Amino acid sequence: MGIFGKKYFKREGSPGDYTYYYTEAEYKEAKGKEEEKPKHQAKQEEDKPKEKTKEQQIAEVYAYCDKVIKEHPRDLFTHLKGEKVSNAEAMSILRRKFNNDLNKTLNYDSKVIDKKFIISIAEQINDISESVPNGHFYNNDCLKGFNINFDEGAGFANYNTGNNKISFEKDFVESLFQPDDIDNIKNKQEVKETFCHELGHSVQEKFIRTDTDNNTELFKSFGKALGWGDEVGIKYIINENKKAVPIKREKEFKLLTKYAELNPTEAFAEYYSFYNMNFKLINDYIDGKVEDSIFNKTQEFKYRGYKITHQQIKESVKAFSWMRENIFDNDELTKSLQFDEWLKMSI
Ligand SMILES: [Zn+2]
Repeated sequence: MGIFGKKYFKREGSPGDYTYYYTEAEYKEAKGKEEEKPKHQAKQEEDKPKEKTKEQQIAEVYAYCDKVIKEHPRDLFTHLKGEKVSNAEAMSILRRKFNNDLNKTLNYDSKVIDKKFIISIAEQINDISESVPNGHFYNNDCLKGFNINFDEGAGFANYNTGNNKISFEKDFVESLFQPDDIDNIKNKQEVKETFCHELGHSVQEKFIRTDTDNNTELFKSFGKALGWGDEVGIKYIINENKKAVPIKREKEFKLLTKYAELNPTEAFAEYYSFYNMNFKLINDYIDGKVEDSIFNKTQEFKYRGYKITHQQIKESVKAFSWMRENIFDNDELTKSLQFDEWLKMSI
């Protein structure tokens, strides 16, 4: 369940022509009426069976997928992994779930060995989708879908500003695979953290809109809070080996991760992800509820293979504050689609 409230109960139709049902009762009532109508026609069709059109066949598959999704509100992923559901069936249902409930496409390499592997990865994405504001995920038009690649790909994982998709690439996907335990993937937490990092890039894109330079000036103040100079915006410095080079900071305290030291864009993704993974802790820091005495304690927070200390969080509190104000408390960025729809309906 998202912290900003759940969406409508059900949505049917296609983009631009959706019908929304806000409660189960409302949905059932509408469906009841629909079912009553075509009784006469059904009788005639029995006498003279017609070949189904492609649209009808697709509609039937979708109806079946929706039925299964509805029957398993809590255990859909476990159910799909089960013996009774074929690979093809499971994948159709999973795609339908992503299209409707998450508002994203899901693509994966056909070389994938077993459905359970993809389902396990998809489950982590679904978990994150339920823990972030709707405007960051469901209603984020700078995030259109996901690719899980077993083929060649660039790097570990990435967010593409051209097609607005997040891809998990071969090296990363392979690292998750465990042949002895196909039901599970390795490092579920790392999948969430990596996914959340890439989600951070798409949220930054929504905030900045690189094609319009919206908010780029404001974004500089995020970099400044982490010690970069006035002029450093969203740029990358790439060397002759096509590798990103860290942009020197004026103030040198230790950022959360080595990766964050590269530039404000990577720092944004790392801080966004860590904030999401430790939401209450970071809010307590911003609100001054974490006592100074704790900084000397040895407790560390695991994140993407790093161990992050209280001291590091404390030194980055300005950047987290910036993020709360501009990213998590920004109505433009977080408001949900259903709220807009609801407004239209109530006018
Ligand atoms: Zn990144």
